[in-house]
Amino acid sequence: MSSNLTKSKGNMYDWVTHTHSHIGGKCSHGCEYCYVQAMAKKFPAMKEKYSGDIKLIEGSLDVDYGKGRTIFIDHMNDLFAEGVPDAMISKVLSHCRNSPDNKYVFQTKNPQRYGSWIGKGLFPSEIILGTTIESNRHHSCMQNAPTTFSRIIGMENVYDYETFITLEPILDFDVNDLFDMLTYAEPSFINIGADSKGQGLDEPTFEKIMELYELLVGAGIEVRKKLNLERLQVKFPEYDKQKKDCIEGGWLMKGNICGAFDDDGRGIDCSASTCPYVNKS
Ligand code: SF4
Repeated sequence: MSSNLTKSKGNMYDWVTHTHSHIGGKCSHGCEYCYVQAMAKKFPAMKEKYSGDIKLIEGSLDVDYGKGRTIFIDHMNDLFAEGVPDAMISKVLSHCRNSPDNKYVFQTKNPQRYGSWIGKGLFPSEIILGTTIESNRHHSCMQNAPTTFSRIIGMENVYDYETFITLEPILDFDVNDLFDMLTYAEPSFINIGADSKGQGLDEPTFEKIMELYELLVGAGIEVRKKLNLERLQVKFPEYDKQKKDCIEGGWLMKGNICGAFDDDGRGIDCSASTCPYVNKS
């Protein structure tokens, strides 16, 4: 077995230690913002790997997963998209089960498909199951992906497991409607991130994101923010002014949560002694 497992890097979640891809070919969801397809346009090797029919990447099932890792499976494609045959999913899950001393992370825009694999008992024992929700609204860049409503319903089947919802790339939304959708799915935690490539998507203001953040935290849900949200703070100068006032005046921004981030990319609680701004003097 090869030990060629990729260490997590770039824009990947900071709680994931490694990533691994089995599925090549073009993902049938066709999201306009897909960074894999953007890379496939630029680099011939990526084009060969991630265009055409769905296929297993040669040698991908021979990689030794070792132990003690948190491995994101198939971050370059959607393993549970309708276009991926059951036989392929079965081989991927079997590969994971062969190294049971790891935690495996799966993320799909088609979580309705999780249910049958849970029913068959074919997932490895340690898993985190997630879905992407960009917004409560439909945006044309979502293309052929299942509706966000169906993704939320799909997460209903996985309540016995650790679950997450990732709002990335976050697109403009209605605060209360999105809050209701997210809390209905009862995820173990939520990740929020922006389009890291700055592709001109219909993005919400940073202030709106913070409003949602406070509602979620108030409802007792853990929210993990990605550093790439900082770009939205710069994009919407009105919010930057608030940040400046907060820093210079030692004021709270909204409730207790400030727009600044700590080293782990999480919002700083202004009432905490760790706030570098309020407590700077
Ligand atoms: S679901 Fe993921 S891999 Fe598929 S097109 Fe959308 S962003 Fe790309």
